[in-house]
Amino acid sequence: MHRWTPRRSPGRAARLAGWITCSLWGALWAADVAAAPPAQAPTPLRVLATTTVVADLVRQVAGDLVALDCLMGPGVDPHSYKATPRDADRLARAQLVVASGLHLEGKLSELLGRLGKRLPVVSVADALPQNKLLELAPGLYDPHVWFDASLWAGCPAVLAEKLASLDPVHAPDYRRRAGEYAARLQALHGELTTQLGAVPQERRVLVTAHDAFRYFGRAYGVEVVGVQGTSTESEAGLNDINRLVDLVVERRIPAVFVETSVSDRNVAALREGAAARGHAVALGGRLYSDSLGGPGSGAQTLEEALRSNVATIVAGLGGGESPATGSPQP
Ligand SMILES: [Zn+2]
Repeated sequence: MHRWTPRRSPGRAARLAGWITCSLWGALWAADVAAAPPAQAPTPLRVLATTTVVADLVRQVAGDLVALDCLMGPGVDPHSYKATPRDADRLARAQLVVASGLHLEGKLSELLGRLGKRLPVVSVADALPQNKLLELAPGLYDPHVWFDASLWAGCPAVLAEKLASLDPVHAPDYRRRAGEYAARLQALHGELTTQLGAVPQERRVLVTAHDAFRYFGRAYGVEVVGVQGTSTESEAGLNDINRLVDLVVERRIPAVFVETSVSDRNVAALREGAAARGHAVALGGRLYSDSLGGPGSGAQTLEEALRSNVATIVAGLGGGESPATGSPQP
């Protein structure tokens, strides 16, 4: 990742002038350097992304044209994340803050709102057409839009236009890269549809820790059940677990899944409940949900994470063979 580029220290040109004292020409040259306007030596736009999924979007659209920092690292749950004083400093130094939006960053929303009055903040999913979003309550939408690759393909253009307005010199690059990335996401959508099509319809039931996969289910024809609600901030009750035990036992669901950014506790309770009723449920593997993987995980981009998830799901639910081998690392 292209991290912050430290700003040139203001004393550097002065020190430079001090060194070059051997001739008048040298001193004049140094004065020229000191007086050069910033446009002569542009520094990349400082962009701060909230989550790893959003940071990946920035990387795909802007590459090395911006200096990218990401607030929440791999494995961090964005629903419950609270900004630290150091984060507030990182946010304040950014020239553009890119958020996912639709209240994914639950506890940060207020801070982002306040920040938006002082510096550019773009919440990419907020710009998606409302008729393509899943409404949870009047005016409240499910934020996990990146699990539908064709829906997330609407976000690169939103980001590209924001970047273009702040850095017009590179506007054609941002727009070209956004177009290429959107096309790749659309192609990936087709690829994932084909792979999941190999799982028999009656087995296409995805039981996971929290309800992050509704868009995924809608896009790829998978019935999705979360032990917890759509946000990890709500606690799963005993009734929720018992209801899911009934479902898993009655439907003979072969595997359930855990997530890299959410506690396994509820899924473990579900498996124990099913086992007590004579139905062994395999742990199908670990899915990337609200966070991508870290270095070496093979899931540092959304494209890789979606491919990894689908491979894990197909192996876990597929033909009744052994569940997916290996667990992705956060
Ligand atoms: Zn979530």
